[in-house]
Amino acid sequence: MTRLNGKCALITGAARGIGLAFAQAYVAEGARVAIADIDIDRARRAAADIGAAAIAVHMDVTDQASIDSAVAETTATLGQIDILINNAAIFSAAPVTEITRADFARTFDINVAGTLFTLQAVAKHMIARGGGGKIINMASQAGRRGEPLVAVYCATKAAVISLTQSAALNLIEHGINVNAIAPGVVDGEHWDGVDAFFAKYEGKAPGQKKREVGAAVPHGRMGTAADLTGMAVFLASSDADYILAQTYNVDGGQWMN
Ligand code: NAD
Repeated sequence: MTRLNGKCALITGAARGIGLAFAQAYVAEGARVAIADIDIDRARRAAADIGAAAIAVHMDVTDQASIDSAVAETTATLGQIDILINNAAIFSAAPVTEITRADFARTFDINVAGTLFTLQAVAKHMIARGGGGKIINMASQAGRRGEPLVAVYCATKAAVISLTQSAALNLIEHGINVNAIAPGVVDGEHWDGVDAFFAKYEGKAPGQKKREVGAAVPHGRMGTAADLTGMAVFLASSDADYILAQTYNVDGGQWMN
């Protein structure tokens, strides 16, 4: 388990959920990781649980000064950034007739601008040290097609897929591979908010929406963060040197639905 030996990774939104699972998997493969999150207390607990190979870094992906200081703190502490996972995002749901400009702006600011400007800051660092690196953006099946009641979140993830393609074509001349992962539904704390939303709008009982979407996955269950780590390790490894601009479905077959 040394596919990422000597590598250093910055993972945004890694204090919990999928990002935390990525951090644990990368450390298991020999990497050192910066757990970057707006929730610094939780990021610190997560880094302490992982041990000496992890550091916690405060980062708000909507704030350019915060992005720049997180990149500077990571490079000062770990020495370099070889891998970036743009994982931080928020979910947003409302009927199209009730979407507000404030929610639209906030969701795009975190999910799209946050992804772009973190990618930009880390790409500049990678280029300055001679090029080479791996950048992985977290997309979603929600970015592949429309979903009733989830228009804004879907649009942000479609934008992430598009940004991945353009950034990949731009940065490959510097030896930087940009790709994305598109999970389907993945169990975790994120689903507390999703369940609460559908309870309100569709009159569902707590947990009901989650059971329904899990049963609809061709594989037969919701995904887990652990289902995604293999792809995240592969895309960060030298095995993926000839791969760029791809968005990989890791979704139990949901893209077929
Ligand atoms: P999560 O909500 O559990 O965790 C998101 C993390 O991002 C949190 O730790 C949060 O503090 C952090 N964060 C929020 N705003 C931030 C900001 N402005 N700056 C820095 N950090 C911030 O999310 P998750 O379910 O683990 O999802 C991780 C990624 O996978 C996201 O990009 C999400 O869109 C994507 N995804 C999730 C699912 C799913 O079903 N859970 C499905 C498809 C794609």
